[in-house]
Amino acid sequence: MYVEYRSLSAPQLAALDRRTTFLLLPVSSTEQHGPHLPVGTDAIIGRTILEDLAAFEAPENATLLCLPPLTYDRSAEHMSFPGTVTLRPATFLSVLEDLLSSVAAHGFRYVIFLNTHGGNTGMLTGLPQVWKRQFGLKIFDLEAPQPWSDYNTVPGLTHIQPELEIHAGEKETSILLSRCPELVEMDKARNVPVRLPPWYTCWSSDDFSPLGIWGNAADAKPETGALLREYYAKTLHETLLEIINCAADIGNETADLELEGLQ
Ligand SMILES: [Zn+2]
Repeated sequence: MYVEYRSLSAPQLAALDRRTTFLLLPVSSTEQHGPHLPVGTDAIIGRTILEDLAAFEAPENATLLCLPPLTYDRSAEHMSFPGTVTLRPATFLSVLEDLLSSVAAHGFRYVIFLNTHGGNTGMLTGLPQVWKRQFGLKIFDLEAPQPWSDYNTVPGLTHIQPELEIHAGEKETSILLSRCPELVEMDKARNVPVRLPPWYTCWSSDDFSPLGIWGNAADAKPETGALLREYYAKTLHETLLEIINCAADIGNETADLELEGLQ
């Protein structure tokens, strides 16, 4: 069952079985996406993927609670362009830790990050080990859509070169064209083929692209966006089912449930 966290009352939240409730936290950005896309692109993509999940049957053995999204984050690499808002690492860390501390205080056990901005990846993949000890939470990190680069085996998407699709390129532009075309200025979209040197980890978007586009935005089409959305929603659905099944095997969760049945 998918439920909006903010739609429930305090007693309704208190009544949820903590062993089968998973908090889903969308994390994105407010940052430049070239001259043709809005600064809320990553947040729109995160919301779109979650909306598209509705096409799939929600898991019966768990409740997935969608927390209010976090849309300010680590975007320092885009600060040379107007419109970008970035949090200092200590601020981002504090916000996340206060949020995790709050849900842990109310007994929740599982948190799943749905991150749609690469600038957050380092902290979201590196710190769950610390937060597990600190808050007693089991945390799962889903990085979307970058690591889901298998999409280039999907019929209709095989032309996309994942290694050149870094930011505001064909993928992101196509998704917005299929979701909110009124926010896209295609006459300003360009093909900027940039390959990121893997050892240059302190890159900023103006290092290689004066436009802030890294990818083939000029070839974006709504049909491509529709195929990507279908692929991402299906992959997310399957991954969430795997997480729910895997969580029952972590620690003594299964034992808890079995003991309850015996009593
Ligand atoms: Zn983006």
